[in-house]
Amino acid sequence: MRAIIVTEYGGPEVLVVRDVPKPIPGPGRILVKLHTAGVNPVDSYLRSGAQGYSPTLPFTPGMDGAGTVEDVGDGVIGYAGGEEVYIAGSVTGTYAEYCLCSPGQVFPFPEKLDWAEGASLGVPYFTAARALFTRGGASPGESVLVHGASGGVGLACLQLAAPRSITVYGTAGSREGEALVRKNGAAECFSHRDPGRFKAIREATGGSGVNLIVEMLANINLDSDLKILAPGGRVVVVGSRGRIEISPRDLMSSESVVMGIRMPLATLEERREYARLIEEGVRSGSVRPPVASLYSLEEAGEAHKTVVKGPHAGNIVLEIDNP
Ligand code: NAP
Repeated sequence: MRAIIVTEYGGPEVLVVRDVPKPIPGPGRILVKLHTAGVNPVDSYLRSGAQGYSPTLPFTPGMDGAGTVEDVGDGVIGYAGGEEVYIAGSVTGTYAEYCLCSPGQVFPFPEKLDWAEGASLGVPYFTAARALFTRGGASPGESVLVHGASGGVGLACLQLAAPRSITVYGTAGSREGEALVRKNGAAECFSHRDPGRFKAIREATGGSGVNLIVEMLANINLDSDLKILAPGGRVVVVGSRGRIEISPRDLMSSESVVMGIRMPLATLEERREYARLIEEGVRSGSVRPPVASLYSLEEAGEAHKTVVKGPHAGNIVLEIDNP
């Protein structure tokens, strides 16, 4: 089969397509024939080797995908050959024609979506659900600022929160991104290039501040985030690319809490709950990942350049074998 095989950590050029043996599903494993694979920023961090938690070489990148179950190993129940599925996490990597998964990584493909949209569910929507509800405790009647709402996780936050009577504010870095954020349920969208955005966001809440901030770039925003929280406010740090100094006094003044999330810490029950929220949202029409661009497997390096560069206007997908 064709697969991206990374033999050395480095830039996008290390994403090379090779012919390798098709995997065989051992006990407890599901073999999926992939039609599409989702591209997320974390894939580029793992490829670079810079963060210290990359897989051992050689490896195939990719956590998200969509396709058809080809075969199952001994002991796997509830999955059958020919079943259409989406993938949220993979044992062998989704930038390939076939991959192996464990049962907690494979979910029934929601009717109404296409293969590219299905490959955009895993990391973005599972992360959004964990940030908003498991960690952030977002509830009806509250206000949420999604700081970086035009990317994969941000748009998923909007689509999951807005239908639950939560007032959602978003930020984006381009006109196109701002339009997409408004279209996906934000009451208002602000430019995160505008230094005056914090004042404008507080004003949008009538001066009371936001209850929850889902933060995609904490090293830039956290200090100012703490100044626009309502009493008892929370910040969930989803992304950060460096250090930042904050004033602990700001935590005292609104009795606020800063917390992080890390998707690998989600339990199987939590992951099943996230899949349930996605299925419910797709059925009601509120969940539909906006796909920004499609690349071939051979163009995975270009896809990685795009995913870290921005500005964003949706998800990036590799088309592997679109039937
Ligand atoms: P993405 O699709 O690349 O989107 C990045 C978002 O950040 C875009 O909306 C971008 O807006 C925005 N952004 C750029 N500059 C910003 C600024 N100064 N302030 C606020 N936002 C800004 O990435 P993603 O998939 O949504 O993921 C977001 C971050 O979360 C990434 O760093 C990713 O690695 C991380 N993440 C963490 C976990 C975890 O378990 N903790 C899980 C998934 C993702 P424009 O492009 O419009 O400027």
